[in-house]
Amino acid sequence: MRAEIVSVGTELLLGQIVDTNAAYLAKALSEVGISVYRRVTVGDNMERLVTVLQEALENNDVVFTIGGLGPTMDDITRDGLATAIGDTLQYSEEAGDKLKAFFAKRNYPMTESNLRQAMVPTQGESIPNPNGTAPGLQFEVGDKIGIALPGPPNEFIPMVNDSVIPFLRRKTGNIGTIRSVMLRVAGVGESSVEERIKDLMMDANPTVAPYAKVGEVHLRVSAFAETAELAEAMISERAAQVRERLGNAVYGTNDNPIEYAVVQALKERGQTVATAESCTGGLVAQRLTDIEGSSEVFMGGVVAYSNAAKTDLVFVPAQLIERVGAVSPEVAKALAEGAQKRFGTTYGIGVTGVAGPGGGTPGKPVGLVYVAVAYPGGVEVQESHFIGSRSIVRTRSAQTVLNLLRLRIL
Ligand code: AMP
Ligand code: MG
Repeated sequence: MRAEIVSVGTELLLGQIVDTNAAYLAKALSEVGISVYRRVTVGDNMERLVTVLQEALENNDVVFTIGGLGPTMDDITRDGLATAIGDTLQYSEEAGDKLKAFFAKRNYPMTESNLRQAMVPTQGESIPNPNGTAPGLQFEVGDKIGIALPGPPNEFIPMVNDSVIPFLRRKTGNIGTIRSVMLRVAGVGESSVEERIKDLMMDANPTVAPYAKVGEVHLRVSAFAETAELAEAMISERAAQVRERLGNAVYGTNDNPIEYAVVQALKERGQTVATAESCTGGLVAQRLTDIEGSSEVFMGGVVAYSNAAKTDLVFVPAQLIERVGAVSPEVAKALAEGAQKRFGTTYGIGVTGVAGPGGGTPGKPVGLVYVAVAYPGGVEVQESHFIGSRSIVRTRSAQTVLNLLRLRIL
């Protein structure tokens, strides 16, 4: 079954609200094996709405509209969908009475225009909306289905879950389901990732798709199958192939960030870490302590921002800073070793760099960052040249040192 989602509302086109409903619906549809071929957003304009809907109905089995079911003049979706699918609306005594009861119960004044919300398809039915006044509409004309849902998410989401999905499951005989897993990759760029798994990305089922994120790449592995178990099995097999190609670069799955992987790896080994951060101002410590149970492995951190703080708090020799400068591989190393010594941990993290936007020099430009990891028996330092805003440089710095630590632990 092919579907198209048409979001209706000028506020969406103006960027004033984000179309969270369409994302929610797309995900719910994929889970029952319905393929969404296109998503469109159109303003509150009858002519354009009808054009979009006619095209959508021509190319798909089921077309959804989101929004524009209210009582006011700009709420045109009800009439637009009826026109496009070739049906008319009729007043429903039942819906009208419900509406009147809703208003009476709350002591709201009811106007004539409110009764627009009691208009239902002649070929189809209304979809109950327990959380609002506008019922949804479900048209079935010939072999085409049109479903109109209201915009407010607190009304929309329960209607999708309780009415739309069960209805579509009956319609499709529940032919299948799509499952996905997100593999998270660090330390390898998007194009290198693609290079190594290109052939796996050609396959239509399961699919593997890369998403570039700040400082990492996510790979979505999705499979379509008759049952959830089969889909999961296909995903596991494909994910294992991806892991084989990318090795340690795959650090985790789904919503677990790299600091989660670091904390787990430390826990498994009974090891600990401490931080001494300059340009990240505590970001690494914050990310580590975001993880539940990090107290077992994270002993503490220092924001060694001034030169004096670097010397006084984590033993970076003042002469060293004077000789090579605060932003240098030597100082990054000294910070990492200082943190390790100060807190008596297995590992120490050091970060120093030029986050920008000011403060860069020809020798030490904005985006130059040194991160270091001290470990039992040595210290490793990495130089990076990041591009982007202050916040992005800081995020990437934290990401890079967390990955360096992760690889060192492994
Ligand atoms: P409407 O049903 O078009 O009158 O929209 C009512 C309210 O629902 C709007 O003011 C938005 O706050 C919200 N809304 C409408 N469409 C969407 C959407 N696609 N995603 C999330 N919220 C929406
Ligand atoms: Mg609207």
